[in-house]
Amino acid sequence: MLPVDATLADLLKEPERKPRLLVVDDQPTNIQVLYRVFADDCQVFMATSGEQALHTAREEAPDVILLDVMMPDMDGYEVCRQLKQDSATRDIPILFVTAHHEAQEEARGLACGAVDFITKPIHPAVVRARVHTHLTLKRQTDVLKRLVFIDALTHVFNRRYFDERLTDEWGRAQRTGKPLCLILIDVDFFKQFNDMNGHQRGDDALRQVAHALKAATLRPGDVVCRYGGEEFACLLPNTDLDGALQVAQRMKLAVRELAIAHTASGVAEVLTISAGLAVRPPASDRDAAALVALADAQLYRAKAEGRARVCHAVLD
Ligand code: GH3
Ligand code: MG
Ligand code: MG
Repeated sequence: MLPVDATLADLLKEPERKPRLLVVDDQPTNIQVLYRVFADDCQVFMATSGEQALHTAREEAPDVILLDVMMPDMDGYEVCRQLKQDSATRDIPILFVTAHHEAQEEARGLACGAVDFITKPIHPAVVRARVHTHLTLKRQTDVLKRLVFIDALTHVFNRRYFDERLTDEWGRAQRTGKPLCLILIDVDFFKQFNDMNGHQRGDDALRQVAHALKAATLRPGDVVCRYGGEEFACLLPNTDLDGALQVAQRMKLAVRELAIAHTASGVAEVLTISAGLAVRPPASDRDAAALVALADAQLYRAKAEGRARVCHAVLD
């Protein structure tokens, strides 16, 4: 996540970290050859099976994957297919590494989503150049994605990102049987805050609230988005009611502790939030829209019951 005060220039400049490269091959000696080519310029991760490759790709978020075609158990095509199915790994460029270079094989690899082919034996200069090209393209795509998916005022994710991510997480929860929680958050008496302090101070307050909400989430998979106006949404994958209630309470406290004076608030001396929390239990035949509607109803209840509080319910 970008710092809340990141500028457009920050988004466009070269990242300070080394590019991350995942090398997948069932033969450790082949991995060693590629490792030596990239060890100076990249952070290199290694996997010797398809299963391990899928796991490392999800955990380490590499920028490029060099993937052996011929592997026992799960071959490179199948690994590629599964990587392309998962939103967390879908956009990582995959280069197949193969000893038998035939047009048919290349066509098959490209059809399942690879961006390039490298033939064994490895020619270091060629491999380096190809990987460099795809790292550059990946960096540019990452910048564009940030611009498309990040809210310009608060620099947390925007509504467009939320909608996409909700669909993905709903699907994942259905497949894995893990609970999914959604918290909708709304700043209390914010119209009065703007009226009293002006829009610019209002904007500053929204930036601070966004930052506090983000800081209150602890897992890398948790998502905070600006849902619109002075409303935020927080998606908590693989989180049960107790865990999500803790997050919501931390958020409530964190915003209070910003201690942003709000003399026209009807509930406190400082800016506060209300939150509606909805839980998708491990089994549910409802849809994602029902989860949003339930969280919204709980937010409405939190407002009606006096604001500056969290209300929750479990989807049936
Ligand atoms: P409630 O406690 O019921 O939520 O009251 P409220 O005043 O917060 O709710 P209402 O929906 O009536 O007003 C929301 C206000 O939020 C309207 C607008 O002044 C303010 N707002 C929405 N988006 C922005 C923004 O981007 N910047 C600023 N400064 N204010 C915004
Ligand atoms: Mg509102
Ligand atoms: Mg409000």
